[in-house]
Amino acid sequence: MKVLVINAGSSSLKYQLLDTETQAVLAKGLCERIGIDGRFTYKAPGKETIDAVSIAMPTHAEAIQAVLDALVDPANGVIASMGEIDAVGHRVVHGGETFSTSVKIDDKVMAALEECIPLAPLHNPANITGIKACQAVMGPDVPQVAVFDTAFHQTMPPVAYTYALPYEYYTNDKVRRYGFHGTSHKYVAQRAADMLGKPIESLKIITCHLGNGSSVTAVKNGKSVDTSMGFTPLAGVPMGTRSGDLDAGILEYLMNRHNIGITEMLNILNKKSGVLGVSGVSSDFRDLTKAGSEGNDRATLAVDMFCYSVKKLIGAYAAAMGGVDAVVFTAGVGENSANERMAIASGLEFMGIRMDPDANAVRGKEAIISAIDSKVKVLLIPTNEELMIALDTAALV
Ligand code: ADP
Repeated sequence: MKVLVINAGSSSLKYQLLDTETQAVLAKGLCERIGIDGRFTYKAPGKETIDAVSIAMPTHAEAIQAVLDALVDPANGVIASMGEIDAVGHRVVHGGETFSTSVKIDDKVMAALEECIPLAPLHNPANITGIKACQAVMGPDVPQVAVFDTAFHQTMPPVAYTYALPYEYYTNDKVRRYGFHGTSHKYVAQRAADMLGKPIESLKIITCHLGNGSSVTAVKNGKSVDTSMGFTPLAGVPMGTRSGDLDAGILEYLMNRHNIGITEMLNILNKKSGVLGVSGVSSDFRDLTKAGSEGNDRATLAVDMFCYSVKKLIGAYAAAMGGVDAVVFTAGVGENSANERMAIASGLEFMGIRMDPDANAVRGKEAIISAIDSKVKVLLIPTNEELMIALDTAALV
């Protein structure tokens, strides 16, 4: 089955056309500056690349049209006609408590998606715009599926998702831990089980998605039972620019002292904190490692804080699950940085985690990086959210 995977932002749209039987990416690219001046990028194996050329994209509909035009282009396209696209899979950030699995989109689903907007006011409207654009351009006969970042975590028990606030804020206002990166955590947990040759239903896995945004998840018997992001993706470990968990009392103290409002405060927590805030150097771990090696102590502190925070969660989630069989590293930092993986896993020998430094000297490909006799297996698994979305979409249609 050929599935077009769409990840729509407010002014951008990432796409991939995948063949779900071979799992091959037939073509992929990006529409940027939608609503501004429109830039289009297209890459397909063995074809000419289109690199950020100007195409008018006043709305997402023109962006989708540009994608379809490129896919069916006689010279550089990869399909003969739009009819070859069997379905479209959309990444949707927030499914609230309504969606615990991916769903085929109909009018009722669209209405429920609109209801989730207050929970993700920046992301869900863009995702909805992307869906509507596809419906308008491709017509009603091409099935569309929504795949949610939050869905995998809907199996968390109340003890993990309830905040210790007046309970009415949960019942009336839907304030609870939702968790994000669910598609990624689900994908790498399943791959880990495949690589270990054991059914996922028999495993306790801790998945560490460490990128620009980072989250750690406890996956027990194939189900998410706890995760570090919360009501929003601001919670958990320190990230590229997000603070992660902090004492809420700090907000009032800083807002009073610096005479700043809540919008500015949240901008600081989302955009100016994390390893960028601590180091004053960069949100990119490559820059931090370089600065650290040149003697910048704050850059070293920022990386150390990040690793320490992930390490603590591994301990916490092993306690939550009554043990752990495997730890998985994925996303930009998890896939590429041997030093951070080693710093996180070292010192955990007491719980059966022993790394193999040689096996850990690897980047961006599936590998078991723990020592042969390590009781807990440590794995590097590149995430593939697009493939997961395509497979879910194919399964539903
Ligand atoms: P996003 O959350 O934006 O999807 P990614 O998963 O792509 O992020 O991760 C991006 C981050 O990965 C970068 O900010 C960078 O810190 C980190 N990264 C990428 N390559 C390397 C590398 N070779 N070594 C260390 N960190 C890396």
